[in-house]
Amino acid sequence: MSLLKILYYPDTRLRLIAKPVNEVNKKIKKIVNNMIDTMYQEEGIGLAATQVNIQLQIIVINTMEEEKNNLVLINPKIIKKEGNISIEEGCLSIPEYRASIPRYNYIKVQAINIYGEKIEIEAESILSICIQHEIDHLQGKLFIDYLSKFKRERIQKKIQKKRKNIDQGIK
Ligand SMILES: [Zn+2]
Repeated sequence: MSLLKILYYPDTRLRLIAKPVNEVNKKIKKIVNNMIDTMYQEEGIGLAATQVNIQLQIIVINTMEEEKNNLVLINPKIIKKEGNISIEEGCLSIPEYRASIPRYNYIKVQAINIYGEKIEIEAESILSICIQHEIDHLQGKLFIDYLSKFKRERIQKKIQKKRKNIDQGIK
């Protein structure tokens, strides 16, 4: 097991745009496995390569809490979207902050799986939200970008204050 280091907001590397994967080789499979291990370790339901400082279009998801249900999407692309949904979202890169933002309830996604095969999946509800959240990461976009300027600034201030306390040794 190999764990990867998660980047935390406002790390500017979270804004980098991921490149497509050309070939699902050994190196990519290793990255995917390390991402899955890291997602479990951090108790997240999804992780994008951007969050572990790898600028490749790879996301891993598990909304089922069962290892066999890991969903690996390489070069994911939303080809159909319908309906509206919004639930409180969190993010491993912005710990302790949650917010409801508008998402599509249904999406159809084209991607490549861990075997290098082209796949198409349909997702609704939480799974759909999770995929949209992770695909956003690959574009350097964070869920707080959807919030109003006021709300976003409030979160930024809280994070800065917390960071200052950590720097000064106050918990
Ligand atoms: Zn996230």
